Amino acid sequence: QNIIVRDLADKLGVNASQIITKLIGLGVMANQNQNIDADTAAIVADEFGKTLVVEDEKSDVDDIFDLDHEDNPKDLRQRPPVVTVMGHVDHGKTSLLDAIRQTKVTVSEAGGITQHIGAYSVNVDDKKVVFLDTPGHEAFTSMRARGASITDIAILVVAADDGVMPQTIEAISHAKAAEVPIIVAINKIDKPTANIDRIKQELVENDLLPEDWGGETITVPVSARDKTGIDELLEMILLVAEMQELKANPNRNAVGTIVEAQLDKGMGPMATVLVQKGTLKVGDMVVSGTSSGRIRAMFDDKGKRVKKVGPSMPVVILGLSEVPNAGDLLYVADNEKIARNYAQRKKEQLREEQLKSRSKVSLEDLFEKIKEGEIKDLNIIIKSDVRGSMEALSQSLRKLDTEEVKINIIHGSVGGITESDIMLASASNAIVIGFNVRPNLNAIEVAKREEVDVRTYRVIYEAIEDIQSAVKGMLAPKI
Ligand code: GDP
Repeated sequence: QNIIVRDLADKLGVNASQIITKLIGLGVMANQNQNIDADTAAIVADEFGKTLVVEDEKSDVDDIFDLDHEDNPKDLRQRPPVVTVMGHVDHGKTSLLDAIRQTKVTVSEAGGITQHIGAYSVNVDDKKVVFLDTPGHEAFTSMRARGASITDIAILVVAADDGVMPQTIEAISHAKAAEVPIIVAINKIDKPTANIDRIKQELVENDLLPEDWGGETITVPVSARDKTGIDELLEMILLVAEMQELKANPNRNAVGTIVEAQLDKGMGPMATVLVQKGTLKVGDMVVSGTSSGRIRAMFDDKGKRVKKVGPSMPVVILGLSEVPNAGDLLYVADNEKIARNYAQRKKEQLREEQLKSRSKVSLEDLFEKIKEGEIKDLNIIIKSDVRGSMEALSQSLRKLDTEEVKINIIHGSVGGITESDIMLASASNAIVIGFNVRPNLNAIEVAKREEVDVRTYRVIYEAIEDIQSAVKGMLAPKI
């Protein structure tokens, strides 16, 4: 892309004659009305100690990496599944993650030390399975709210002596909203009070019909304490992965997602990247958010130095200029200039975004968005004081479907509105309706930050009327 010398001078805040002098120094003869190419312009900008931000027609900075570029089907190779463990507190998520790692990672392989880098891989037969190390649907959904979807399969841990609990139901909704298949690990079967059939019954009540009862949900009894059922669970993960036909092209510039990142006193910014496409190599020029740099070294989850990693694999990288955010994408750039431009533009984009609000759904402008074809689904989360009113409300709301917009109740449960509800709403572009319940202080704050529309009602009819009016474009302004 070319730029006129005069424009370049304006951009850099210098005189055209100064530019022309620099150009002569570079052996380029041009007057102020002439075009020079982008590379030359970048070099000149550099001479003035500035980075030239090349504006092309593409509005989204991520487009410069051509992410949607469809890989040729013949270049696609099978890749390992990436698994997240979810479930109610104390049902054994952490224990299960530890049990899998301990069972599968041999001492010699790990050198006796296991590194917690945010994700780990295990070998099952001749295949691999990758686990994200931060359990819980909160982590899963906050990643998704940032636009990252790296989980292929969700393991729902349900304690056999406790059953389906509020966070179990939340986890189900979060996985379903993300359209991630669920495998249920019925844990703690070593306990005398364990009752597997009761758990299955409760799963049925939450729309997960176990396979052995004629449904599609795979359930595996396990004990994280005794390490029983672990191999069966891993086999089932591979089976579900096979049905999903998970594939990626390993032979291209890598694209990945930051799973975890921190500043190390000695080594500088360290980030765990989960590679999604391509192969990431030491020496690659990478960018992530406003951070960029050349990869100096990489370590796998066993603490071993590696030179390259392919799709689905987690790796710690060194060499970034600053600490990126979890959930940020990481790209390999062809050269340093592209990388620096990207980071620069990302900074500007963030600033702009802070100024103008992102386009989250709200009842107020719902009708506009329906008209403009921007929205075809209205996703709703319902929280209420009792189960009966939650069900009555969701049934009535579902009936408000019109030809233009479909109403989806993506989660409904009893209890106050929490941060987790807001994050689910943010990730799924949903609104939150509270019936006889209110958001807690934390939820109010997060709702403001994430720009999630939260409405509370005391009369069912009023909630229905509001949604109906919003769908038809006749909503009275919020007071
Ligand atoms: P999380 O909150 O879901 O991560 O649950 P934890 O993994 O921290 O486990 C909660 C408690 O349950 C701990 O005291 C564990 O020792 C215990 N626990 C986990 N798995 C099992 C199991 O299979 N059997 C028994 N008996 N206890 C377990």
